[in-house]
Amino acid sequence: MFKGILIEKDEAGYRATYQAIAQETLPEGDVTVAVEWSSLNYKDCLALTGASPVVRKFPMIPGIDFAGTVLESSHPDWQAGDKVVLNGWGVGETHCGGLAEQARVKGEWLVALPPRFSAREAMAIGTAGYTAMLCVLALEKHGVTPGDGSILVTGANGGVGSVAIALLAKLGYRVVASTGRLAEADYLKSLGAAEVIDRSELSEPGRPLGKERWAGVVDTVGSHTLANACATTRYGGVVTACGLAGGMDFPSTVMPFILRGVTLCGIDSVMAPLSLRHQAWDRLAEDLDIERLNLLTQEIPLSQAVAQGDAFLAGQVRGRIVVNIQ
Ligand code: NDP
Repeated sequence: MFKGILIEKDEAGYRATYQAIAQETLPEGDVTVAVEWSSLNYKDCLALTGASPVVRKFPMIPGIDFAGTVLESSHPDWQAGDKVVLNGWGVGETHCGGLAEQARVKGEWLVALPPRFSAREAMAIGTAGYTAMLCVLALEKHGVTPGDGSILVTGANGGVGSVAIALLAKLGYRVVASTGRLAEADYLKSLGAAEVIDRSELSEPGRPLGKERWAGVVDTVGSHTLANACATTRYGGVVTACGLAGGMDFPSTVMPFILRGVTLCGIDSVMAPLSLRHQAWDRLAEDLDIERLNLLTQEIPLSQAVAQGDAFLAGQVRGRIVVNIQ
């Protein structure tokens, strides 16, 4: 038996509870990991609360990411004692995940813990921070440089938003943070934002094209916010779309794309190929300021993870929540 969170769904309803879990609950896989740290991402909170059907099999251990030490492995790349990180691949949705003392996964899903980070730091970054880096890599791939103008980050107080601000600022970009919580402006500036705007500037239905404001965008919100971000991106600018915290619709027109040559890049962390994951983790190790990471991180024990779900989805959590498993 080991301690963890188990999501069950039966005639008694949908429930997530912290409990002792039998070893047989772990799925097939060639690597068993002693999980040391996990984290709470938006999707984890959808799973914990049942607010959206992200869990596809029951019973399920939630947790879309974890960092820990290999206990047993029959995979050629991994041996007992190796430090590893996992993000995505359906873990915590269709395959038991990281919010427990043990996880069993496929060896090809794992990435070596970058030597610069402790397991705790890797999960303070977590899937949200790794996704923020995927957005930064996409901006760079499409030629956006710090001299081109401001980068808009929406959902700025969230996990992806907070890490994106810290990364972009460190790389020399001028970051404009869009938030529904202006009271957190000082926090956002301490992460590196040059300017903080009210999200209501972007969240209402807008015109097909507006004043050109951004050289690039990291959007975690979707819906009208994404449409307005595209409509106010400068000629040749790049918009990275990774989230739906404000809605999954995209009520836009083609005008930003055909009149301003704006590029819209989709960002997916879950099935991203290993080469891109290695690149993202290497760049996080190079470009993320640990002091700023500490500033945006709060820690909870595993026993409190279920209780955080509702507050998180209500947009009351700032930055990242790292979960202490051991
Ligand atoms: P968080 O909940 O930490 O952050 C979301 C932020 O969005 C909130 O802090 C809030 O910021 C803002 N927000 C919340 N509700 C609304 C709303 N109704 N309208 C406008 N803004 C809102 O989540 P994460 O940072 O973990 O994830 C952000 C998004 O990115 C989620 O949709 C998540 O599913 C997605 N995601 C996608 C990934 C991928 O692979 N594509 C990977 C990781 C995350 P503020 O208070 O500053 O306005």
